Amino acid sequence: MMFSCFQPNLSVDCVLDLTWECLQKYHLQSLLLDVDCTLKSYRSSDISPEILCWINTMQEHGVGLCLVSNGHRKRIRGIAERVRLPFVAPALKPLPFGCWEAIRTMNFDKKSTAMVGDQVFADLLAGKFAGLFTILVAPLRPEEEPWFARMKRPLERIVCCSRSLF
Ligand SMILES: [Mg+2]
Repeated sequence: MMFSCFQPNLSVDCVLDLTWECLQKYHLQSLLLDVDCTLKSYRSSDISPEILCWINTMQEHGVGLCLVSNGHRKRIRGIAERVRLPFVAPALKPLPFGCWEAIRTMNFDKKSTAMVGDQVFADLLAGKFAGLFTILVAPLRPEEEPWFARMKRPLERIVCCSRSLF
């Protein structure tokens, strides 16, 4: 079963797959990044060296980055400070306002900005409601997620065919 409103423009295993060449191919200059299960696993408060390296590489290429998370402001601020990125939290995804706030404050061009995240009913929908390109990533260590997040995964697989692979 497939619902077209739940299809991302692009689906990848991990943000590390989003190379500069890949972004160029899709004419993307800025990324709004979900945090939990996208840049780090749910329970970890640390971001891996590989992800930090990816963030650096993106910035060296001039890609605009901003964290857009539904997490508590204080917790996300701590992560944002460690990775030296601006942030919007709590973003109240799937509502589009957090994405719009990030785009406005960062002066991103909406046409070349993508929302990147692991949750169909938060990240993907927020990106679509905000009128952005959407990139769905496979969640990092989904077994660590709390029950309320895990509960949504089977439904994600039903509505989103790209989820059928994991
Ligand atoms: Mg997430």
